[in-house]
Amino acid sequence: MEKITVLIIQNSLTDVEIYIEGGWMAIIYEHNKLILRLYTEQVVPTHNEWDFGCFNRGYYEYRRFKKFIPTSEIIKEALRYFNINPENCDFIHMKYRENYTHHFMMLVMFYKDIFFVLDLYSGAGGASAGMHFVLEKQDIEHIVIGFDNRFMPDYSNEYPFCFINEDVLGIQPILLKFFRFIWGSPPCQKFVSVNLKRKTNHPNLISKTRKLLSYSKKPYVLENVRNAPIRRDLVLCGTMFNLGVFRHRYFEISGFACQQPKHFKHRGRLGDGKYFCVISGGQFRDKKSKENREKNNYFYGEYKDWCMAMGINWIRFEWKDYKSRVSNEHLEFGPILPSGHPLIEAVPPAYAKYIMGEFLNKNATLDKWINSE
Ligand SMILES: [Zn+2]
Repeated sequence: MEKITVLIIQNSLTDVEIYIEGGWMAIIYEHNKLILRLYTEQVVPTHNEWDFGCFNRGYYEYRRFKKFIPTSEIIKEALRYFNINPENCDFIHMKYRENYTHHFMMLVMFYKDIFFVLDLYSGAGGASAGMHFVLEKQDIEHIVIGFDNRFMPDYSNEYPFCFINEDVLGIQPILLKFFRFIWGSPPCQKFVSVNLKRKTNHPNLISKTRKLLSYSKKPYVLENVRNAPIRRDLVLCGTMFNLGVFRHRYFEISGFACQQPKHFKHRGRLGDGKYFCVISGGQFRDKKSKENREKNNYFYGEYKDWCMAMGINWIRFEWKDYKSRVSNEHLEFGPILPSGHPLIEAVPPAYAKYIMGEFLNKNATLDKWINSE
């Protein structure tokens, strides 16, 4: 029997919130400001002497002003109230502000009819945007949740995007069962050609991420660069989507099949005015390749050319890296982006759009997600 997830958030010794999967509402507070309140059914609040708010089945808030009652007793009472056997439950305990994941946990627990997509290491949302595009086009009600340990102000703030600024590997694995599709782009710096020969401290998060994804038993995509240790079920190139970058990316795909588009010989080269090399600026400084580029009349382009080449229009040029290096336009080198700039780390949305499209085409069980006319 499938277990019911119960989320317990201990705000303080005398304040606990209990959220039960399959309920009817979710509320999200941030810094005491209500940022989201959603209902799917009529809400029936009741009150008793302890200012106990109860909303149909699902949300149970208990503020104990008058006497101390152990949290375990309150959980028992909440489950009794909703007629649920504790033996059928998986419990997740959290302290308030331990991390923000409880925000999205509430969302995914309460809205089973929504197609939830998880974008791990989302950056500024290249993959999220591509997946959203297809889901919207097919009229599937969805929410994309981006997860990144760096704050990403350019991750779309508009519905249907939610951004969680947390460590991906801190996710409680049990939560993944609420998602219909999971995308993961673990940091690839360790495997980028320029870093292969160097001894770097970039972590290899791929195997840990794969473990998390496999545990979910959900369809997933693990994206990375050429030398990364992932299965090569698919390789995509910008020329397949008429982009202005080549940007070969490799995909390990689980839970569905994805057709490999044909890769034609590149008819063009970087710097020819159609194709751009979207990387951090320092890599342009190597003297020998600089001379080569000069011989070839290399065209670096401007930031807006790079964005267009990637199919991205929402990532700001201004960005500071951990060494406080800032973005700047350089007459000789075009845009000089600091390492870690979200544009250079982005997945072209066209890639994610293609993969999600393949998933939807081949997944007949999705019929119920698609609104009939
Ligand atoms: Zn190619």
